[in-house]
Amino acid sequence: MDKLHFSSETEAVHADHPKADPYGSHGMPIYQTSTFRFNSVEEGRKFFAHEEGGSSHSYTRLGNPTVDRLEEAFARLEGSNLKHADNVKAMAFSSGMAAITTTLIAVANGAGIVAQPTLYGCTGQFLQEEAPELGIETHFVDLNDLEALHRVLSENPEINVVYGETMANPTMEVLNVPAIADLAHAHDAMLILDNTFATPFHLRPLEHGADAVLHSTTKYLNGHGTLIGGALVSSQEFLERYNLPTYRKNLGGVMGPFEAWLNLNGLKTFNLRMERHAQNAMKVAAYLDQHEAVAKVFYPGLEDHTDHDLAQKLFERGYSGVLSFELKGGYEAGVSLMNNVELCTLAVSLGTVDTLIQHPASMTHAVIDEETKQKAGITEGLVRLAVGIETPEDIINDLKQALSVDQAVLA
Ligand code: PLP
Repeated sequence: MDKLHFSSETEAVHADHPKADPYGSHGMPIYQTSTFRFNSVEEGRKFFAHEEGGSSHSYTRLGNPTVDRLEEAFARLEGSNLKHADNVKAMAFSSGMAAITTTLIAVANGAGIVAQPTLYGCTGQFLQEEAPELGIETHFVDLNDLEALHRVLSENPEINVVYGETMANPTMEVLNVPAIADLAHAHDAMLILDNTFATPFHLRPLEHGADAVLHSTTKYLNGHGTLIGGALVSSQEFLERYNLPTYRKNLGGVMGPFEAWLNLNGLKTFNLRMERHAQNAMKVAAYLDQHEAVAKVFYPGLEDHTDHDLAQKLFERGYSGVLSFELKGGYEAGVSLMNNVELCTLAVSLGTVDTLIQHPASMTHAVIDEETKQKAGITEGLVRLAVGIETPEDIINDLKQALSVDQAVLA
């Protein structure tokens, strides 16, 4: 009989089941150890010579059973529907940034990158400031502008990486993954995508032709705001071709066993959480869209979003949980909203079960120059909301009362 194939929902619920445990533990134990004992010289020698019969582990920076289990779960989440699912492998990192920088340094060294201009701030900064010092030049172009992308790839044959975020902050642009993958491959470049915002619940880029997927698992993949973590998911060939295990071992940004265990726990409810995040975000977006204090809502689930049709085609089961909106009252209205919400927490990040809100102009971007803010799409009245899984009416009522204070102040 063929091996049973389980849905990603089932895979996530069983994410932390150990394959074999001497004590029959139901959940994956935390192997909280830096080093592993060899039973004999021969076992140790075989391990380091990569021969069969050696120990399975030697030192946690090189591998740890709790982290291994999490990596299997990540690989299943992004790749279990693929024909060659067994060939999909994941690597866990100490942060999303460790996953991104280690991957780009390994793949693009001696070559070049073409990247989407709207990127998570630290990724953009790395590509603009540190990567050039390492000999990696990045060209920025709107990846959905296929003609412009074709031009950059044709004029710069050294480029071997096309890089973007499947859903990008703050305007929630969505990438045309299959078309960009075809173009990248026609120019012998790898398509590497950060899928943190969309998550494999809504979009699995490997199924649409991407070569590698990156995550800040700090966000939805863990879901409870209890850790900083990252992941790379790709084929075994990709990881070997670019020596990724060696780069991670030597650059050292590996995830620790306790974080891996927390992340395994978080994954058990991944699908339930994502379903609710997306349902709630859709309701909140629709509410804000008709609010008189709001000039514009950026959420791909809304029909007037620039990428609504594309998102409808590519995304499954909704459009994830983050949205942003522009307040008519600008900076002052943003500050007032921040100071008057009661349920929403003023905090950066996203993907926690509770709703987080932030006003970049007065908070994260308060000391950033105008030009950089403009490039990042940060206007005076822009608010970012990472919608949680609370009762949706409670989130809406909180925004309603806080926005009414704004209007009273402005009147
Ligand atoms: N990618 C995206 C899209 C992010 O939003 C973030 C963090 O906010 C990162 C990467 C970096 O992840 P980490 O903070 O886990 O290093």
